[in-house]
Amino acid sequence: TIEKTIQKTLTKLGVQNLNQGTSTGSNFFGNGEIIESFSPVDGNLIAKVTTTSKDDFETVIETAQDAFKTWRLKPAPQRGEIVRQFGLKLRELKQPLGELVSYEMGKSLQEGLGEVQEMIDICDFAVGLSRQLQGSTLHSERPGHRMYDQYHPLGIVGIISAFNFPVAVWAWNTALAWIAGDVCIWKASEKAPLCSIACQNIIADVLKENNLPEGISCIVNGDYKVGEYMTTDKRVALISATGSIRMGKIVAKTVAERLGRSLLELGGNNAIIVTPDADIKMTIIGAVFGAVGTAGQRCTSTRRLIIHESIYDTVKNSLIDAYKQLSIGNPLDEKNHVGPLIDKAAVEMYKNALQQVVEEGGNLVVEGGVLSGEGYESGCYVKPAIAEAENHFEIVQNETFAPVLYLLKYSGDVENAIEIQNGVVQGLSSAIMTNNLREAEKFLSQAGSDCGIANVNIGTSGAEIGGAFGGEKETGGGRESGSDAWKVYMRRQTNTINYTTELPLAQGIKFDL
Ligand code: NAD
Repeated sequence: TIEKTIQKTLTKLGVQNLNQGTSTGSNFFGNGEIIESFSPVDGNLIAKVTTTSKDDFETVIETAQDAFKTWRLKPAPQRGEIVRQFGLKLRELKQPLGELVSYEMGKSLQEGLGEVQEMIDICDFAVGLSRQLQGSTLHSERPGHRMYDQYHPLGIVGIISAFNFPVAVWAWNTALAWIAGDVCIWKASEKAPLCSIACQNIIADVLKENNLPEGISCIVNGDYKVGEYMTTDKRVALISATGSIRMGKIVAKTVAERLGRSLLELGGNNAIIVTPDADIKMTIIGAVFGAVGTAGQRCTSTRRLIIHESIYDTVKNSLIDAYKQLSIGNPLDEKNHVGPLIDKAAVEMYKNALQQVVEEGGNLVVEGGVLSGEGYESGCYVKPAIAEAENHFEIVQNETFAPVLYLLKYSGDVENAIEIQNGVVQGLSSAIMTNNLREAEKFLSQAGSDCGIANVNIGTSGAEIGGAFGGEKETGGGRESGSDAWKVYMRRQTNTINYTTELPLAQGIKFDL
């Protein structure tokens, strides 16, 4: 049945099985090697995708450069109209695209649909924004002069995305980049290439219907080597890269070497602080969803719970009970809470983490393990685990991209919990569960959480598109999506206009001829 559903889904999205890969719109081509996409849901091979060779990449860049010349001249609100139409197409195709995300990546169908909803939301946001790309009017110190600043498009934006959000991250970037007047080249994760081809088909239709050049949206496929074509190429003005800290450190260096711009959205090590004033029921829901949702493969997944000693046992026992109720299995079946990890390498990483936490002195209170047998044939299903640990353990300091939750204990004031929370290299998402105003405000103050996202009485996982999304420290410092994140996709220009017949110089400098 799954195969039939997926086949229908692929047809609706115009995704055939072979020879798709590089695209500058509706024409797919590619001369690189073939990569295979396996579903972690059932282990089946779902597609073979042709990757992008260096020559293909050159064609893509040239097509994008040409498209930019047309696209940048279109008034921003008209660019917004294209994004509006794209949002409408996504509404029509929400179900099949959500199913493909779920099948190719392994997240639950609800989360797959949620990801497409995020794409729709960012389109709506971008449409409004296309009439609000505001600069400021400034007062000149010289008489008869006017100053203002304005924003212009950058050119080509290169997007490198991770496997865990195979469609939404692209839309977060493209929707804003397009209304800004940029054109985009996307290198999706080699672990979810079909999703990128499906998205490309959708935007290619919109562009064709509007007689616009294909190169406004391009995709390239392949692993890090294809990513490097983009990061090393000075014709790509901005690299927006989402993925591991390891990848971000390489990309940052490569792009900086050519003085390009980069926007980095890297790993997190997110914690919830649970104070004696926390609502325990809310805490458990937030923590369990945060730790096991998407099988712990969100950048905002909850990795650490920092619990006050006075309520530690209550929270621990409630969590153990809650974990007993989790059902693990096919993510397309809505009854299941937890789906598979992305591949067997991820399963190995999960097993190693459980072994390491014990070796470092931790104590597994929910043991975990790999599932086998009927329904688990792909070998990618694991049981969510909980370990009592200490913040300084090496394994706790690193992001394990799997459903492993660490319980850490604190005593005394909330400052002690904040110190533990901040005591890691990552700085993406953080939360405090408390009904105590003083604790909440301390957590949000300049002496509080050092993360890009800090929440009160909601968990760490997930975010709305209206806010700027991203994190500090080794999470990379980038911001995407809402608020004024659009400015990253544009270059700022300061303009001074003299409407007199004199030429006074700034700072009163005299230069008589
Ligand atoms: P990854 O770093 O292995 O790969 C991410 C992307 O980078 C892939 O497309 C990959 O091909 C590419 N890449 C890898 N090395 C490269 C290089 N040297 N040059 C150019 N491109 C290169 O990450 P992953 O396993 O796909 O995703 C999981 C990671 O992503 C986690 O650490 C997670 O926290 C992070 N993530 C962060 C955010 C965020 O917004 N902060 C969102 C989603 C995922």
